[in-house]
Order: sequence, then C-alpha cells, then structure tokens
Amino acid sequence: MNRRVSVWKYVRLKNGRWRYCKPALAKNGKIRPDWVIVKGKAEHHPEGNFYLHRYDGAREIWKRVGLNAQDAVDAAEFDTAYLDAKAKGVPVKPIDTPNLTIEAAAHGWLEDVKLSARPETHELYEHTVREFRSWNSNGGPRHRFVAEFTRLDLLTYRKWLITDVGNAPRTAGNKLIRINRFIRKTLKLRDGEGPITVKDTKVGVTEREPEVYDQAELQQFFKACTPEQSTLFKTFLLTGFREDEVMFLYWSDLDFNRGTLRVTAKPEFDFTVKDYEERTVAVPHDNLMGELYKLKQWNFIRQLKIGTPCRLVFPTAGGKPNYHMLRLCKRIAHRAGLNCEECETCVRSDGKECEHWFLHKFRATYGTELLRKGYDIATVRKQLGHKPGSEATFRYLAPLQIDVVRKKGIDDLFGSVVDWELGKERGASQTERAEKVTVKSEAAEPEPENQEAESPDVRQPVPEGISAMWKEIHEAFRKAEVKHKKK
Ligand SMILES: [Zn+2]
Repeated sequence: MNRRVSVWKYVRLKNGRWRYCKPALAKNGKIRPDWVIVKGKAEHHPEGNFYLHRYDGAREIWKRVGLNAQDAVDAAEFDTAYLDAKAKGVPVKPIDTPNLTIEAAAHGWLEDVKLSARPETHELYEHTVREFRSWNSNGGPRHRFVAEFTRLDLLTYRKWLITDVGNAPRTAGNKLIRINRFIRKTLKLRDGEGPITVKDTKVGVTEREPEVYDQAELQQFFKACTPEQSTLFKTFLLTGFREDEVMFLYWSDLDFNRGTLRVTAKPEFDFTVKDYEERTVAVPHDNLMGELYKLKQWNFIRQLKIGTPCRLVFPTAGGKPNYHMLRLCKRIAHRAGLNCEECETCVRSDGKECEHWFLHKFRATYGTELLRKGYDIATVRKQLGHKPGSEATFRYLAPLQIDVVRKKGIDDLFGSVVDWELGKERGASQTERAEKVTVKSEAAEPEPENQEAESPDVRQPVPEGISAMWKEIHEAFRKAEVKHKKK
C-alpha cells in the first residue's frame, strides 16, 4: 500500500483552467505559500486551496485542507503518521473525514451556523469557539487539529471555565455542549459520538425550576402588543409551541373549522420534526383562531401587494422566517414596563432587556397551566411534544406545587405557635408587594381572551408527603410507558 501523502495546490493557470500543482519550495525546503511549479518553473499563484493527495490501493484520494500552507504540511504529517500507525496494526479511529485544523474548521463551521441558525445562536457559538481556541493556545493542550481533542481535554476546559473564567456550572456545561457539537460536525460524527457525554455537561448543575408568567404580567404584556404581535405571542402561549415550531408554522397547518394548529416538518427550511414532536393541538376558537383568521385576511391583502404568496403565518416583512422573535419579546416587555431591573441582564443593558422575558417561558406557562387545569401528565406530554418517558413534563409540576401549597394556606401555618414579631418588618413589605400586584392586575383590564390562562378557583388537595407522592406517580407513569412501548 502506498502511504505517501503529498501536498498540492489547486490553482488557476493562464489558460483559465484549474489544475493541481506541486508547491514551489524555498531553499530551506519549506513551502513558498504563493508559488507553485508549472511546467518546471515557479509561478506566482496566491489563489486556490491546498490539497492532500494519496492513493488508497488504486484509488486516488484528494482532500482539501484550506488556504494555509503550514496547515497543509501539518495535515500531511498527521495523515502520514495515522496511515503508518494503521498499517502497523495500531488501533486508530477511522479518519475518512476532513482532517481540519481548528482554525479552518472553526471558520467553516461558524459560516454554516450563520446560514442555518438565528443570529443570536451564531453570536453565542462564535464567542464560545473564540474562547475555546484562546484556551487551547494559552495554557490549554495547544492542539492544531480538531481530531486531537480528547474527553480529558474537554473536561479540563470545563474546569478552566468554572475556576478561571468564573462561569457557573450550567454555563460551562452549555459551552461544553457547543464545543462538542463543533467537534462532532467537523469530524462528521453522529449524535452521541462526540468526545463527551451529556452527563459530563451536567456535573454540578442543579435542575432549575421552570419559570412561568403570571396572569398580571401577561395582561400587561399583551396590552403593549400591536394586534399582529398579540396574535404571535398568544400563539406561543396557547399552543405551547417551541420557537421554531412557531417560526415555521404554515397556513396549511391551521384548521379553522376544528380550531387546531399542527406541527409539521418543513424540509425546505431544514426544519425536521421527530415522530413524537409531530402533533396537533386544539386552541380556543373564539380568540386565537379568530385572531389568526384576521391575520390571514390581512396577509392575503399584503400578498396581493407584494405579488408573492407566503406560506408562513409569522414571516418577516420580506416573507422570510422570522429569526428575531426573542428580540421582539424582550422589546415588548421593556415597552410594557415589565423588566425587573434587578437581574444581571437588566443591570447590564440599563433596564432595556430582562432575562425573565423569553420565548420558552410561554411554553412553560402553557404546560403548567394545563396541569393546573387538571390535565393528566400523559396528555400534557403529548401536547408539548415531549419524548415518551421524558422527564421534561414533570418539571412543570414544580411551579404548580408551590402555587397549590400557598393556596392551601401556608401563610397561616403555625400562626398560633410561632411568635412572628421579629419578622414584622419583612412581613409588611411582603404585604405591600402583594397589594401592588393586586392593583396592577386591576389596572390591566381583564381581557376575555385571557381567561384560558386564569388559575382555577378549585382548591386542589395536597396530601402529606408531597415529594414522596410525586415520586410514586412518576414511577407508575414510567412503568406504564415502558409497558406501552413494549406493546
Ligand atoms: Zn431583569
């Protein structure tokens, strides 16, 4: 077997044709980056990519390595060492994938993200990759190639994020997921084949209870919306759809007679849907379906003006999917005076953006509300499009529990036993806050369409040993699902 790996440059000759040419060498034997040999003479060719060439049996293999000469030389060395090891019977992982340098891979991958994800996502990935590369070359393992990173490297990176950068375990875990994804995509690995596991990313992370919006907040929010915005965010609230599920909603997914919205795949936008995510949810006829109908009519008029039909329910002005719904949500919350002014994001943005306003919270509110209304977990799981046996649905029981406990009269608990004198001051401010909330909700006129989200008056029984009970229900539910799956 011929294991020789050679470096070539793909350049455009004077006759306009592209050819693989040998790079010209300097006196010290190194490649002169912009010079190649054409018909025995060195010619200046700054254009074109470097390629590696080798034979696999009789088959010729060309592999692009990018614009940098040194990268090409390094890649050739790496491939030679790899093929030697393989020929000697040393167990090595197959690399029929582009053996890219971190620099080249990062560039390509971020371009990919830029074209296929939201701008916010791209920004996040770009920051993480930049930070990761800076760690790699300053105190990190100083690898040149993406394929060199091991699980241990990534765990060291995670530790560095927490101790040196000061990231919370959750943030560090999220960055680890992004880098793992970057490595997986570059090396063309499948899900679960990256250097780290999901478990690695969750070390030290405590599961946060989901945040939900309350009635008064929502009323104030919807009051600050334009009619079109109101329809958009009511769709979020009353379907529990994920961001991309709303983003890629088609008019054909709506059934005005039955009052339902469907989640379906949109291959044209690279929007795929897993079996359990494909679903139809019923929404209130009177308000949401009515508003959507108005939107459809308005859209029809707009389409006549533009001249191109648009299948998306909530497109941008140009008829493209709207990747800025989060930004819109934050802007409306700000306009409505709903920002907390205390969170980190509020402080950093001078009160313009608040971390307590985000799209997924509408979904959490929906899930919690269904449970509050007495829907069983299996139904709620289906409505939300969670994977069978997923723990995700149970998370929405958390805010519910607190609510129920408070209704049951936790404030009066032990009232006659404990002397509350010491806590009087705090108690007073709490009452004040409660009053403020009441005034707020009175000031905001209750809109009839929001009745859906109102909490029920019925008090739900709270048996002793709540957590033990949830565990039991959880277990029974899991068993039932396993059984169901077997069938
Ligand atoms: Zn805030």
